[in-house]
Amino acid sequence: MVASMTDASFMDLALVQARAAVAAGEVPVGAVIVKDGQVVATGRNASIGSHDPTSHAEIVAMRSAANILGNYRLDGCDLFVTLEPCAMCSGAMLHARLNRVVFGAADPKTGAAGSVVNLFDNTTLNHQTRVEGGVQSEACSAVLQEFFRNKRSEQDQQRRALHPLREDALRTPDAQFAGLPDYPWEPRYVSDLPVLDGLRMHYLDEGPVDADRVYLCLHGNPAWSYLYRKMIPVFLQAGHRVIAPDMVGFGKSDKPKRESAHSFSFHRQTLLELIERLDLQGVVLVVQDWGGLLGLTLPIAMPERFAGLVVMNTMLATGDTALTPGFLAWREMCAKKPEFDIARLFARSNPGLSEAEWLAFAAPFPDRGHRAATRAFPGLVPDHMESDGAAVSRQARGYWQTQWRGPTLMAVGMKDPVLGPRVMETLHSQIQGCFAPLFFAEEGHFLPEVGAPLAQAALQFMDSP
Ligand SMILES: [Zn+2]
Repeated sequence: MVASMTDASFMDLALVQARAAVAAGEVPVGAVIVKDGQVVATGRNASIGSHDPTSHAEIVAMRSAANILGNYRLDGCDLFVTLEPCAMCSGAMLHARLNRVVFGAADPKTGAAGSVVNLFDNTTLNHQTRVEGGVQSEACSAVLQEFFRNKRSEQDQQRRALHPLREDALRTPDAQFAGLPDYPWEPRYVSDLPVLDGLRMHYLDEGPVDADRVYLCLHGNPAWSYLYRKMIPVFLQAGHRVIAPDMVGFGKSDKPKRESAHSFSFHRQTLLELIERLDLQGVVLVVQDWGGLLGLTLPIAMPERFAGLVVMNTMLATGDTALTPGFLAWREMCAKKPEFDIARLFARSNPGLSEAEWLAFAAPFPDRGHRAATRAFPGLVPDHMESDGAAVSRQARGYWQTQWRGPTLMAVGMKDPVLGPRVMETLHSQIQGCFAPLFFAEEGHFLPEVGAPLAQAALQFMDSP
């Protein structure tokens, strides 16, 4: 029976060793040594694990065989190895005076049995060891190819996880965000959404992944997810999940250098793809400013994911009605003073904020290079029928007017000169089943700064039958 063992079946045993090397994270090469038709020793690559450059499968097997046979000469032994031996192993094989070396796959890079050199052919070095290649070569190279393919894809994944910065973008240094008041949450990043093409987008993802309800909080220009720091804890305490992204160009997300990188469609698409990636269901859409301009157009693309709406100082820009004087004044101010002081804007709009809080709003923008988005956004508001985003906003208007069935809480900061009571009155008429708004007489544009009372009202509204 032993006599019937062929070279191919000994090579199978070497392949078993090769596969065992994979499990240990080593390059999969395996070897067996056979004497008188019996396997006397096996070996597999162990260089990495044993910190030993000489721990190739063949050396490991020869060392073991010599030990077992009590002789440093391996006279009468055949060695089967899945990959053509290197010069080191070939040298050792000649020293051991093996009878025969049989290998599987050729190694065009370092093979010393014919591919690069042939030490077995050298009559000065070799008097007795024969060499044969190509036994089970397909199976032997397949195991190597699979190993390197997996390793490459692992490296790709690792590289993606590091989110390398695109050349045409800037990334606000982490130090800018150190020690911000009331913003304790772990940053999450995604850069492999198709629309992002490598740009790193930041978002908060807090609360249970399997919560029935997800509060999706969308900020506007020039804010970031920091705007929702006072509402988020209330949603979390009620057991809900909260997702709060920073739009590209804002907050902790990457900032394209060029203003032309920004468009209504691009930003809308980032939100759609993020929602799909996170597979959000039972979404309560919480929007203010651009969070609403973009966010209110999302449900038409995925209506089944949305369950409620909390809408604050925002609008649908449908291109078929004139923009308000308040908005036009804001747009003009931004055009005249594109580098307006963001901290001061928040300080003026929200007299209750501490200095640390105004500065937190300005933190994402250490210099004008980082501000392409704040310069671009006022011009992106759709203002005629063909503007990018206008058609989809008109479609959304129709959706909210006739198809929306979820609970809606509208809240209005009355002192907002841009998206204040008049704009909100229009929006109110566009949302079916929208109850009388909550009016905050002393509040301005950045209504989420009201925090807990507003979040509590939202919870009650969403939970009332
Ligand atoms: Zn070797």
